[in-house]
Amino acid sequence: MAAPRVFVTRQIPCIGLERLSEHCDVEVWPGELPPDRNTLLAKVPGAAGLLTLLSDRIDAEVFAAAGPQLKVVSNYAVGYNNIDTVEAQKRGVRVGNTPDVLTAATADMAVALLLAAARHLREGVDDVREGRWQTWKPLGYLGVELSDRTIGIVGGGRIGAAVAQRLHGGWKMRVLYTARSDKRDLEQATGARRVSFEELLEESDFVSIHCDLNPETAGMFDAAALQRMKPGSVLVNTARGGVVDQDALLEALRNGPLLGAGLDVTDPEPLSPEHPLAQAANCVIAPHIGSATREAREAMARIAADNLLAGLFDQPLPAAVV
Ligand code: NAP
Repeated sequence: MAAPRVFVTRQIPCIGLERLSEHCDVEVWPGELPPDRNTLLAKVPGAAGLLTLLSDRIDAEVFAAAGPQLKVVSNYAVGYNNIDTVEAQKRGVRVGNTPDVLTAATADMAVALLLAAARHLREGVDDVREGRWQTWKPLGYLGVELSDRTIGIVGGGRIGAAVAQRLHGGWKMRVLYTARSDKRDLEQATGARRVSFEELLEESDFVSIHCDLNPETAGMFDAAALQRMKPGSVLVNTARGGVVDQDALLEALRNGPLLGAGLDVTDPEPLSPEHPLAQAANCVIAPHIGSATREAREAMARIAADNLLAGLFDQPLPAAVV
């Protein structure tokens, strides 16, 4: 019997590709950029499995182009808002993701952005690089400290809980969180309290976003939400750019109430360097590198490969979305 054909939309760590090659006829897209839409649609017909990235939109058109032999889509990410899971279910295509193994890396990144925004790191580094820094300034670059302040975690899931543990354990921060359900482990580990979104915004000195992007969370941080935040507070987003209204964020950074923001994600990605948010001195923007550690990316490659193989050979997916 011929090995099943799989299309992998980008080079991933070789540990994952080697596993696939043992059992499948693997085509890997060689480009650094994602295959464009027409290329993706041309590559999927005949594939039994797709290994995709968050930058690949896997919608009804792609499922239709792939045809009935498509059994599994394995996303090389924990978030799967790029995949139409309703359409996948309708067609009996299984979908996998890569939870847990990137939690620590992404939580570390959220803390890094929080510190960077709280301490005007971008402004200071830019001044040094561009020759504007002239002397030690008693009143320059004044930020805020973390100790004994309140962190508001929006989406107290895996990564949200890991951020709460870091900030509570390291800086004794009081933890508030929102989620759709109570998180007893998080409450026990950090003394966290589940509150309404409005209370979280009003009470937190730092707010860190960790919910998935879904119809309820899309645009959740609009002008009204941002204007509810405490004067001098800091917003961090390592979830998805679509959760935040970027025009409203710019206004909150320019005219208050925010001291600063740290973003690992934007909409679109990349954001143009000319975009006013990219230019704002009190906004630190990273190129979506939350999971970018060797450890996390290799573990993601293993899980993504195992999900794909399980789907191809009718086994339960180690990490199934549907
Ligand atoms: P998770 O464990 O599923 O956590 C998501 C949390 O969001 C859940 O606790 C969920 O609540 C909560 N949530 C969903 N809708 C909500 C709403 N309307 N209001 C309040 N909370 C809501 O996922 P995770 O592993 O922590 O990952 C979270 C997200 O981070 C991913 O979806 C992805 O978009 C992003 N991410 C980014 C990077 C990066 O590189 N920057 C890396 C990894 C992940 P319930 O549990 O009650 O349903």
